[in-house]
Amino acid sequence: DDRLDGAHVVVTGGARGIGRGIAVRCARSGADVSLFDLRPDVAAETAERVREIGRDAAVFEVDVTDEAAVSEAVDDAREGLGAIDGLVNNAGIQQAIPLLETSEAEWDRHFDVNAKGSFLVAKHVAKRMIADEVAGSIVNVSSVGAERPFPGQGAYGASKAAVLAFTTVLAKELAEHDITVNAVKPGTVDTPMVQQWLTERAEQHDTSEDRLLAEALDDHILDRIGQPEEVGHAVVLLLSEEGDWITGESIAVDGGYLKA
Ligand code: NAD
Repeated sequence: DDRLDGAHVVVTGGARGIGRGIAVRCARSGADVSLFDLRPDVAAETAERVREIGRDAAVFEVDVTDEAAVSEAVDDAREGLGAIDGLVNNAGIQQAIPLLETSEAEWDRHFDVNAKGSFLVAKHVAKRMIADEVAGSIVNVSSVGAERPFPGQGAYGASKAAVLAFTTVLAKELAEHDITVNAVKPGTVDTPMVQQWLTERAEQHDTSEDRLLAEALDDHILDRIGQPEEVGHAVVLLLSEEGDWITGESIAVDGGYLKA
């Protein structure tokens, strides 16, 4: 389809997993994509997939927790593929740690990447959108863990709840500039992060990864794991004109997990 025809969308954490799925899905709707990631070598594979679809892609090595690097990457992306119409704040980390064993450094790292990182990229992209007078859209990738976290998701769930709070505030502050701000809350999606999470928890609880996955999926009404591009479908709606009257919202893309 052509719902994002000619748009320039920045996707953070676009090297793999959900970020790659979102980038590819946006390209299928006609967007050019700038990928911000710690791993430019892996992001280059996503860029290749975008180009195979016939759209432009650019890769920027950037740590979203570093404001100077974020500001520079936003300027470079603007230079490279033109005014930025959409931002998907997807870069994130998750470690399975019981709260009472969570170190200060581990707690801080979740907040640095998931909450502060999303804030910093939104701040610098929104400033460019305002300067370029584009009717933009920002989508923050939160998680069902913001509302219904598992044991072991203390720091993670709290950092993803912080994302929902600043999504609401940004929606209110950017409305006058014709910029919408929303969040998506994925359930369990088939990505390297989930594989790693299963491995860690299986070790901690002396059980098998298959059993843990089956337990996690038990609470998904649709009883199956999600695919990265299925998160992309919801993101495209929010980024496109069809999402123009949606702001400050958070949409669960979770096979029914939050309602189970
Ligand atoms: P992933 O680990 O497979 O991919 C994350 C990407 O973000 C990687 O490419 C990584 O290099 C990048 N990244 C990490 N820290 C970064 C930093 N400081 N700066 C720049 N890039 C950085 O994870 P995923 O499963 O694809 O998750 C993507 C997002 O979706 C995350 O925010 C995650 O919390 C969220 N999410 C995932 C699930 C799931 O089931 N997979 C569920 C809910 C929410």
